[in-house]
Amino acid sequence: MACCADLAGLRSSPADVRVVTSDGSTISAHSSVLAAASPVLEQMIASGRHGWDADCTVRILGASSDAVAAFLRFLYSHPRETAAEEWAEAAAGAHGAALLALAHAYRVPWLKQRAEAAVAARLTAERAVDATKLAALCDAPRLRLACARLAGKDLGAVERSEGWRFAGRHDPGLQLDMLQLVHDADQRKERWVRERASQHVYRQLSDAMALLDRVFTQGSASSPKDPGCDGRDLEAEASPCGDGSVRRGIEQLVRHLAACGGRARKPACPRCRRAFQLLRLHASLCDRAGAGSEPCRVPLCSNLKTKMQEEGVDKTWRLLVKKVTRARVMSTLSNREVPEIVNKSWAKYSSRRTARLR
Ligand SMILES: [Zn+2]
Ligand SMILES: [Zn+2]
Repeated sequence: MACCADLAGLRSSPADVRVVTSDGSTISAHSSVLAAASPVLEQMIASGRHGWDADCTVRILGASSDAVAAFLRFLYSHPRETAAEEWAEAAAGAHGAALLALAHAYRVPWLKQRAEAAVAARLTAERAVDATKLAALCDAPRLRLACARLAGKDLGAVERSEGWRFAGRHDPGLQLDMLQLVHDADQRKERWVRERASQHVYRQLSDAMALLDRVFTQGSASSPKDPGCDGRDLEAEASPCGDGSVRRGIEQLVRHLAACGGRARKPACPRCRRAFQLLRLHASLCDRAGAGSEPCRVPLCSNLKTKMQEEGVDKTWRLLVKKVTRARVMSTLSNREVPEIVNKSWAKYSSRRTARLR
């Protein structure tokens, strides 16, 4: 039996555990280190030792001796210390799949996370099927997601791989699983695109509300009269947000509402309906109560607020108000100035992450 790794020198105390691998190689190690790193190894050591100072033997099978040696080497290190060490990067690259399986089986979460990331970063179409199987066996959702993304991008290349042909002959369920992953990924993408599109609409509505507020607040500063209904040319004012066309659109809509007769005319014309809905949405979002604070200058605001309080609003409207409110909060947060220190930390993290994924 040959010793394939020298872990005994990593601690001053003598090694007291012999780890035997699949090919019969042995690795001398310290029971205190192994037991502290893995509850499974702790249990194996406790049941394999006869007498408190007796040597004991544990078997770590199912992986090559080099992979087991790398696994044990990781157990001797601190998770943070190994983050950027060259030997750790090399070991994660060379034995990523075995390390993932061992870390899962021997319950070492931090190593499992690292090995999962290493396998996902080195994923190719040729390895995708094996990696999908590994992800299922080791309960590794991020790796599974990476496989789904890769297969979704280039299913043809995955289908040409040896792993795919092997699965077809011996494990058709695995092929089905992969196709299901691709299908799920497509559906997720569609959902994401729909979600993005609706977010865009809520954001536009939120911007429109901000503009509506500005148009009438600024108008009221120079004229006490209702600026939307007296025909005053608001287009002449400079747009504070620089979005002149949206602003002009809002002004024209409100002017049209005043000139056309609004909802009093039956049936109401589409432009009046649209203007009225914008004013109603404003009234739902407006938090100027009036008492004690400056009254809101947006036309019909207080009337619509009273009407909605008396008659109530339906569920769909409440949902719309909630989503526009959320879009407004998100917009405020995204426009907030980020402190320099946060920007620096983010840049540092991004560059490290890019280097790790290379
Ligand atoms: Zn009209
Ligand atoms: Zn208002």
